Amino acid sequence: MKILVCNVGSTSLKYQLIDMDDNEKSLCVGKIERVGSQNGIYSHNDVKGLIFKKELAISDHSFAIELMIEILKKGLIQELEEISCIGFKVVHAKGISGVKQLDEDVLDSMAAFNCIAPAHNPPYISAIRQFKKIVPKIPLIGSFETGFHQTMEPKAYLYPIDKDISEKYSIRRYGFHGASHEYLANKVSEYMGKENIKIITCHLGGSASLCAIKNGKSIDTTLGFSLQCGIMHNNRCGDIDPYIIFYLMDEAKMSEDEIKLMLNKNAGLYGMSHVSNDLRDIEIEAYKGNIDAINTIDKYCYDITKYIGAYSAALGGIDAIVFSGGIGENSSLVRQKVLSNLEFLGIKINNELNENAKCDTKINSIDSKVAVYVIATNEEIIIARKAKEYLLSHK
Ligand code: ADP
Repeated sequence: MKILVCNVGSTSLKYQLIDMDDNEKSLCVGKIERVGSQNGIYSHNDVKGLIFKKELAISDHSFAIELMIEILKKGLIQELEEISCIGFKVVHAKGISGVKQLDEDVLDSMAAFNCIAPAHNPPYISAIRQFKKIVPKIPLIGSFETGFHQTMEPKAYLYPIDKDISEKYSIRRYGFHGASHEYLANKVSEYMGKENIKIITCHLGGSASLCAIKNGKSIDTTLGFSLQCGIMHNNRCGDIDPYIIFYLMDEAKMSEDEIKLMLNKNAGLYGMSHVSNDLRDIEIEAYKGNIDAINTIDKYCYDITKYIGAYSAALGGIDAIVFSGGIGENSSLVRQKVLSNLEFLGIKINNELNENAKCDTKINSIDSKVAVYVIATNEEIIIARKAKEYLLSHK
């Protein structure tokens, strides 16, 4: 069984073809960027030796999908029918979670939450409609990012607001990055040879979240009703006092759109540092003594440390911490700063292992009571497994 996993962004299409019958072997990875521009970039690397990176005009997602199919047919598949389904890491839908065939009802439910996932839902919905036209016979299966967090108890997912309003408008903590947290928890269990363990996973990418996981199940997570909370993100603010918004409306006469822009695009790493939304640039400025860059990194790490403390309490102890995502995998500075104040929990890292960490590595010192891992996440394999399970159970 071959499953194609596609990840759609507003200007990108990333894909991976996985042979589920051959030890879940990845047959290719591809990335089409700057969709909608004259100077798009298409890179592809497959097991048959086709490797390229080229620039070309990519008018829209339909064109990107056609390009991808043309390349897959150059050696990986003869006929489209060889692809059992296409799996998508879809983000959010009103009243829907878990794994679903992406029919019009599901797309409508996604559209109902466009306003709370504005960067993610609209491009996905539009691209999925194009997939339906171009490959009408291939089932399109979506794994919602919220799915893994459905095991949270009411005390973790309820907000302390009027219950009638929560119920009427489906307001609760949903949590995101489910496939990544699930993959990381599975990997740690595999490495430790145990299933009944307490883990805190830190997915630190452009968008970031932590998850408290007990015996393989999410019990709490930092993202909530939307992706606009928890620790700061590259451009989004994370947790803030909601009254800042009303105060700015009254005092600074800012409009709703201006505030949305401020919180979605001009906040987080970028807004605090005024350097960049990329931690690499901020680290360089911090080493030069830029105080805003230093404050941004300090705040980023301090908030992760606080959540680790809180989740250790929620879990009633902790066996392992995992760092993943672009920042978690690559920034030894962030890992060191996050963990340096947690010795009271029995967490000790080996500085040399931390400095030189490559994925997948254990970076704790031998006298640490808690294992600390750096693991490259693999959301695609989780999406493919879930799509396969869905197909087999809906035959
Ligand atoms: P996304 O969430 O978009 O998938 P990634 O998980 O790839 O993003 O993370 C991207 C972010 O990782 C970059 O914006 C940058 O802040 C950070 N990053 C990547 N490499 C490094 C590095 N060597 N050092 C520090 N931060 C890094």
